[in-house]
Amino acid sequence: MTLFEKFKPILAARQTILEQGIDPFKLVVQEVISPTEAMINDRRTILAGTNNYLGLTFNPECIEAAREALGSQGTGTTGSRMANGSFASHVALERDLADFYRCHSAIVFSTGYQANLGILSTIAGSGDVILLDSDSHASIYDGCRLGGAEVIRFRHNDVSNLEKRLTRLGERASRTLIVVEGIYSMLGDRAPLSAIVEIKKRFGACLVVDEAHSLGVLGPGGRGLAEEAKLEEDVDFIVGTFSKSLGSTGGFCVSRHQELDLLRYVSRPYIFSASLCPSVVASTRCALKVLQDTPALRERLWKNSHELYAGLQKIGFTLGPEISPVIAATVPSKEYAVAFWNGLIESGVYVNLMLPPATPSGLSLLRCSVSAAHSSEQLAYICEVFKGLYEKLKT
Ligand code: PMP
Repeated sequence: MTLFEKFKPILAARQTILEQGIDPFKLVVQEVISPTEAMINDRRTILAGTNNYLGLTFNPECIEAAREALGSQGTGTTGSRMANGSFASHVALERDLADFYRCHSAIVFSTGYQANLGILSTIAGSGDVILLDSDSHASIYDGCRLGGAEVIRFRHNDVSNLEKRLTRLGERASRTLIVVEGIYSMLGDRAPLSAIVEIKKRFGACLVVDEAHSLGVLGPGGRGLAEEAKLEEDVDFIVGTFSKSLGSTGGFCVSRHQELDLLRYVSRPYIFSASLCPSVVASTRCALKVLQDTPALRERLWKNSHELYAGLQKIGFTLGPEISPVIAATVPSKEYAVAFWNGLIESGVYVNLMLPPATPSGLSLLRCSVSAAHSSEQLAYICEVFKGLYEKLKT
């Protein structure tokens, strides 16, 4: 028995996948052409799985802002804000975010993953409880693990199950942090926020909403599900990422609670990791401004989402329960999913291959994410390729 014994099942699973084509988890993007196109396997490929919801990765103003910051502030900060101090631009980005969300304070982390780690592990500690939706992202699960709270799952989007669990907690309900997502990353459905807020208020609990996939997507101002549902005052913490609608990397938390600022002294993912590069901060600030100034991008994103959802539904795919820019087709098996995904790549369409155990309810998914930058022609081509493979793999 060696340390490497445990990798044998992974090796076997990889071998099965490789027999059907290329390794989807080691895909190389040879050249990025635009927010919606890249060279993959020497073929011009439409990108339909990048979470580039507003298509801002090539926005000229954001690129110029990043370039300017590179020249004036250098390539990196070479340390954490606790040890090396904050650059003025980190503080400015936090001010921008707090203003955008009309919140008291904001904290920026180096990734969205770290934001969840940093917030969940410190807000809820020993003696406290975290009640999380079972379909939560891995970063939410990992954030719970890093802290000392008792962690309890409730059934995905099942409000009565949440209520039952809070009732069982008795007095501890007021020391409970409920965690949900604005748009769930796998199936694209929203949390039933008004019912969740009603319950959290009744039990005196706190609520975190991870708006990773809903920032820039939902709400008249693009602030996410809490804005769309007109419940911003009732959400205690909003967590999010810069790596989707804002086209860069990094994560954040905003809150109307002043205590958020104290996390800087105790949150390990904040303290023990290098702060964001100045160029990333600059492009993120610029993208946040573009997001606010250009509601037409959101309109286009929704038009495209409706188009792709309708197209795939017409072919006969089982999709997530509601239309959103995350559109996942459920397919019968892992093997079918891998074969289909290979067919898509060979035809110049990239989507996310999502397999159990990383998926809810053990589903095998071909997950598309729509961008405002997709053209109608690109969406029609994606549907055409899906239809061809659907027919081919039927027999
Ligand atoms: N939360 C959710 C819901 C996500 O889907 C993701 C990333 N897919 C993250 C957090 C982590 O964000 P990042 O990629 O910026 O680390």
